[in-house]
Amino acid sequence: MDSLKQKIQAAGQVLSDQVLKVDAFLNHQIDPQLMSEIGDEFASRFADAGVTKIVTIEASGIAPAIMAGLKMGVPVIFARKHQSLTLTDNLLTSTVYSFTKRVESTIAISTTHLSAQDHVLIIDDFLANGKAAQALISIIKQAGASIAGLGIVIEKSFQAGRQELESQGYRVESLARVQSLEGGQVTFLDD
Ligand code: 5GP
Repeated sequence: MDSLKQKIQAAGQVLSDQVLKVDAFLNHQIDPQLMSEIGDEFASRFADAGVTKIVTIEASGIAPAIMAGLKMGVPVIFARKHQSLTLTDNLLTSTVYSFTKRVESTIAISTTHLSAQDHVLIIDDFLANGKAAQALISIIKQAGASIAGLGIVIEKSFQAGRQELESQGYRVESLARVQSLEGGQVTFLDD
């Protein structure tokens, strides 16, 4: 997706060979026009996939997920990372190791919102080693729902996430595939 790649080049900051900071348009300040285009792109790529719900993880997955949900006409559920007094229904949980925060946390979705009839599109801001995706897959499977695929805004293709997910049979659609962050430069894989 060219507009996304251009935005990454113009406003992304390479923090190290492993980490790209996109606080200017995705992870802190959010560019609504770009999010809208991202929603259109996910909707077009998964148009025939029979998606009934979108699942993401708070906080940074919510913006692209909600735009995709709007364009696809399906509800969006975000897995919560923190215990909440209002999240008291039966919970489906999984643990996830955070690539950026380097801590393990429990994420939860209430059983109220996912059922065995659902065919779920997982959306997230980044795909690195796939830990967040695997935790969401675990929760969706606990609900008995099936998985249509994964929609990722920025994939770091030099990390293992895509390979592992594809080897498990999941469809992965990434809107920007970063080949390398070496030398402070972002280079993309040709899609
Ligand atoms: P994974 O679980 O695939 O190892 O890492 C994906 C999660 O870690 C994403 O939800 C994202 O929040 C965070 N993440 C991974 N790599 C990066 C990165 O280079 N930059 C930013 N901003 N977040 C990242």
